[in-house]
Amino acid sequence: MARVSERVFLALGANLGDRAANMREALRRIGERCRIVAVSSLYESPALVDEGSPAGPDYLNAVAEVEASLAPGEVLRLAKEVERALGREPGGHWAARPIDIDILLYGERAIDTPELTVPHPRMAERAFVLAPLAEIAPEAAHPSLGGTAGDLVAEVDLSGLRHVEGPEWAGDECARPPDAR
Ligand code: ADP
Ligand code: MG
Repeated sequence: MARVSERVFLALGANLGDRAANMREALRRIGERCRIVAVSSLYESPALVDEGSPAGPDYLNAVAEVEASLAPGEVLRLAKEVERALGREPGGHWAARPIDIDILLYGERAIDTPELTVPHPRMAERAFVLAPLAEIAPEAAHPSLGGTAGDLVAEVDLSGLRHVEGPEWAGDECARPPDAR
């Protein structure tokens, strides 16, 4: 059976080191394995606060749409590989990191395994994920909540989010037409 490629949306976040360089390098490495279809603007948001520990440095955030002929588990493996390559140390959910790569949507599939939950369970409440997602794919449907990215972003508080730079931050990574790859 021919493999059908699906629209996959990845959230990238960085709050350690040269954050923008980490974001670009992560995208470059992802682009070696998937076709990058679109990249959002670069945003900045305060780190989520874990009870009892001080807030970490602010995050840079962006969302990329990739067309993957990789299975969901393979996309997760790629994400973890890139996180490791960029020096992410194993740590808690809240730990500061050079790069965090989360799978937001994989087509309209709902996946629930011990390693992977898609749609990402916390995406609907996160402005730093919904704003960049709605920027590049307002019509992308959330399979379990019913609405689109555009509907969801209208429900969240965007006041802590700062627009840092347009999609040109990503350089050539997605500017090339598909047949030039
Ligand atoms: P967080 O992104 O919540 O800060 P981590 O990046 O440390 O946390 O991820 C913890 C685990 O979450 C990963 O090892 C991965 O197996 C799991 N996981 C479950 N669903 C997803 C998803 N949609 N995208 C990325 N990781 C996921
Ligand atoms: Mg993660």
